[in-house]
Order: sequence, then structure tokens, then C-alpha cells
Amino acid sequence: MDKTSWGTATIAARGGYEPALGEGVVPGIQPSSTFVVPGNPGEVPHAYARGGSPAYEPLERAMAALEGGADAVVFSAGMAAAIALLDEAAPGTAVVMPGDAYYGIRVWAEQELPKRGVEVRIVDPRDRTALERALPGASLLWAETPTNPHVAITDLAEIAALAAAHGVPWICDNTFATPILQRPIADGALATMHSLTKYVGGHGDLVLGAAACAGSDLAARLRARRNRVGTQPDAFSCWLARRGVQTLPLRIRRQSATALVLARCLAAHPKIARVHYPGLPDDPGYVVASRQMDGAYGAIVSIVVDGGAEAAQAVVDNVRLWIPATSLGGVESLIERRARWAGEVADPALLRLSVGVEEPEDLWRDLERALA
Ligand code: PLP
Repeated sequence: MDKTSWGTATIAARGGYEPALGEGVVPGIQPSSTFVVPGNPGEVPHAYARGGSPAYEPLERAMAALEGGADAVVFSAGMAAAIALLDEAAPGTAVVMPGDAYYGIRVWAEQELPKRGVEVRIVDPRDRTALERALPGASLLWAETPTNPHVAITDLAEIAALAAAHGVPWICDNTFATPILQRPIADGALATMHSLTKYVGGHGDLVLGAAACAGSDLAARLRARRNRVGTQPDAFSCWLARRGVQTLPLRIRRQSATALVLARCLAAHPKIARVHYPGLPDDPGYVVASRQMDGAYGAIVSIVVDGGAEAAQAVVDNVRLWIPATSLGGVESLIERRARWAGEVADPALLRLSVGVEEPEDLWRDLERALA
């Protein structure tokens, strides 16, 4: 069968690996830091693991195939992938970035890019006029949708049109949607960026990042940069993340369906001041998300609890099934008050819920009891 006609779940299930006759059905873990090279290292695919390793390749192939990119490069963390991409901005130009980009990336950009002679212009990507004003002189436009932690939606078709009109390449942090629900490269993105730590890994047991690239030239530059600065992944995490890819479609759809159930229950609860979830028809992102996401709205629900930070913290302190912890995207449901992190811009009473794969009824009963 022709591989180019494979559907998403089939690509994911194969996880970038095709065993040859007599080989294992799953790839082995190759932990070697160095490879046998008697002569010219340019003549072999791998010489030293900072530059590349067979351990990274199935995962890189899987991410490229799922995102519809020419290639993908895996890094030690989502932050390392983001920084490698942002470092593509040329000195003397600007990077346009949403104010609600993941705070770690926004803070890094604001603190570090000016030192490299790159101006950072923070805009609301849903404000077309502001974007139009910010784009001239920029060499990169950063997008993130849905955002962390407000689950806000940016219209990627509009971003693509504006970026093209100004000749500015754009990149999308696709961590929340995953390539199962959204494929920005098909809309014209130069690349997508992932914290594989989240849904792709999916089990809370690794930290990795990836950049899936529309073109192989960008991937080659990112790989060379990874080699120079030493932001390569580790072999075992790559092995785990590749295994995560195989069940990603099942998990993200199940988790998104549960998130929708919970968002509806929460929206009707008297102690909830606001629910941020683009699957609710009165959410500002509903119309665009319904168009650009593939039949689901993701598995993060953020809520603002009536009564301020103390009331919100009381919910975190009283849940029994939800686990009070940061991060997201795993099979266990996590809850946290985001404003506890310095640098995060969020209502003091905002709780981010990362919905896992438990029974929806159990998750709701636990939340309802903690809210009471
Ligand atoms: N992008 C988003 C949307 C995130 O939520 C995170 C981490 O929370 C990152 C990027 C950074 O990824 P990592 O923690 O793997 O470095």
C-alpha cells in the first residue's frame, strides 16, 4: 500500500519505524554516544550523538509525517526547540509574539532576543490591526493556539494571510492541539514547535521538544545548531516518546471528549466565574476552533473560581482524584493554580485542568465535591 495515502492514525501507529525482515517490531534503544568511524566522518550518517543518532530518527520521522513536514528535529526539551527556532530571527529585525504565548517562551524571548539585536513585539494575535502594525520589519511571527493557559484560539488562516502579505515566515507552537487536531504546516507555517513532554509523550515520564519543518533546509540548520549547543535528546526518552506517538490519536480524542463534558458541567456550576474552553459555543474561540481543529477542541480546560485565589487554591487542596501538579497532556488528570508561577500572566483564581483518560464521571464527582 502507498504510504502517502495513509491516514493520521495509521502514520501514528507505525511511529516512524518500518522493521526489516527478522528485526524487532519495535525499534531498539541505541544509547551509544559515539559510532565506529575510522575515516572521514562526513561519509557516515552518525559519528557522535550530539550531531545525530539512530535513537532520535524514528521519532523525528513520525513527527515530520504527522505534521506534514519535510523533516523534524527533536531536542532535549520544548524550550530548546523553541529557542532554536527563535534564534532563526536575524539581528536588526523583530519577532512578533502573542502576549499569551507560553510564558517560558515569552519571557525567554523578551529577555534574550534583544541581546541578539532582535526586537520583540508583543501583540494580541486576535487584533488584526495590531498585527498589521507589528509585522513590517519582522523576520518571524510566533503563534500558539490553543494557548497556555487561557486556551485562546488564533485564526491560523488569518495569520497565514497576514504573514504572507508582509513576507514574514510564521511558526506555531502546536503543543496543545497536537498534529492530530491541527496541522499548521498545511496552512503555510514554516515550522511547528512541540513540547513532546506533553501529549506526544503522554505519560508524564519524559522531557523533550521538537520542531517539525516545512523544508529540509531549516531542519538542517536546526540540527547543526543542536550539535553546536548540545541540546540533543536522550535515547530512552526518544524511545518512550515514539511509543507515545503510537497512541496519540486515541488519547487526544478521548481526553478532548472528556474535557468537553467537564467544560459543560463547569460552565453550569454556580461557583465558576469563567470557563475557558473553545468547545463551548459561547467561547470567543469556538467558531475558529470549529473550523481549524479536526473535530475536537483539545483537553485543557481553564476555569476561574469565584472568590479569588484562596477559593481556587481550596479546590486544588481538596481534590482527591485530580493530581495537584504542573505540566499537562498525560493520562493522569492534573490541576494547578497558574498564578503561583512568577512570570505567568493569569487571573489569581485561574485553575488549569489537564484532562486525562480517567472516567469522566469520576473526574466530575471529584471536582464537584472539591468545589463544594
Ligand atoms: N509550549 C507550551 C505550550 C508549553 O505548555 C510548554 C511547557 O509547559 C512548552 C512549550 C515548553 O516545553 P518543555 O517544558 O518541554 O520545555
